[in-house]
Amino acid sequence: MKQNRVSSPVVVALDYDNLDTAKSLVSQLSPEQCRVKVGKEMFTSFGPEWVRYLVGEGFDVFLDLKFHDIPNTVAKAVTAASKLGVWMVNVHASGGAKMIEAAKEAAQSAHQVPLLTAVTVLTSMDEAQFKPVYDSSDIASKVMSLATLAQQAGADGVVCSAKEARLLRGAVADEFCLVTPGIRPQGSNVDDQKRVMTPQEAMNAGVNYMVIGRPITQSQNPAQVLHAINQSIM
Ligand code: C5P
Repeated sequence: MKQNRVSSPVVVALDYDNLDTAKSLVSQLSPEQCRVKVGKEMFTSFGPEWVRYLVGEGFDVFLDLKFHDIPNTVAKAVTAASKLGVWMVNVHASGGAKMIEAAKEAAQSAHQVPLLTAVTVLTSMDEAQFKPVYDSSDIASKVMSLATLAQQAGADGVVCSAKEARLLRGAVADEFCLVTPGIRPQGSNVDDQKRVMTPQEAMNAGVNYMVIGRPITQSQNPAQVLHAINQSIM
């Protein structure tokens, strides 16, 4: 296995329904220049073998399965993810303190300890969807209280919208990491993302890791786009 010494904050989202296409993209990326994210689509289709493949290629892998279940079940899932050698694993903060604590304990008992992050409020939720679930219209306060809860329960960071990053950065510990999707380099297609930030803006807002998918994966020259993003922020 190659030793990874990645300094870039970029995590490339691998959202593919075809393994060969995904492998072809990955072959154009270097584990020294980015990390990669495997989400529910690829994990459900191609399973742990795909994660092992990426780890074997030297990539830091963010396993984005957003666990949310009873503490015992989540702990076991985190243990299983840790055995795959992933760099980061995540849960829903709304699963509560006991669930996050159990996940953290499982992560820390692993041979290779992954970072544990927690999703606050899904950024796809607007006020109309948020209200019936939380009986409130104040998304920002909920994001803040869930991030605080996650930190107190031992999470290493949260997944949040880049637009929430500045607010959170001022409220959580310096070492608590902020992971954000919805990043678009200047001039690139926003696709279905609603509120985007450029990589530079995200860095200025205190983001530690930025998840970027289509601007890299759908480009004619993924390596070149990644290089340009890295140059713009490092
Ligand atoms: O292609 P794009 O850069 O929009 O990809 C963003 C990635 O981040 C996708 O894998 C998407 O599922 C994920 N994500 C997101 N918004 C969230 C949580 C995850 O875009 N709130």
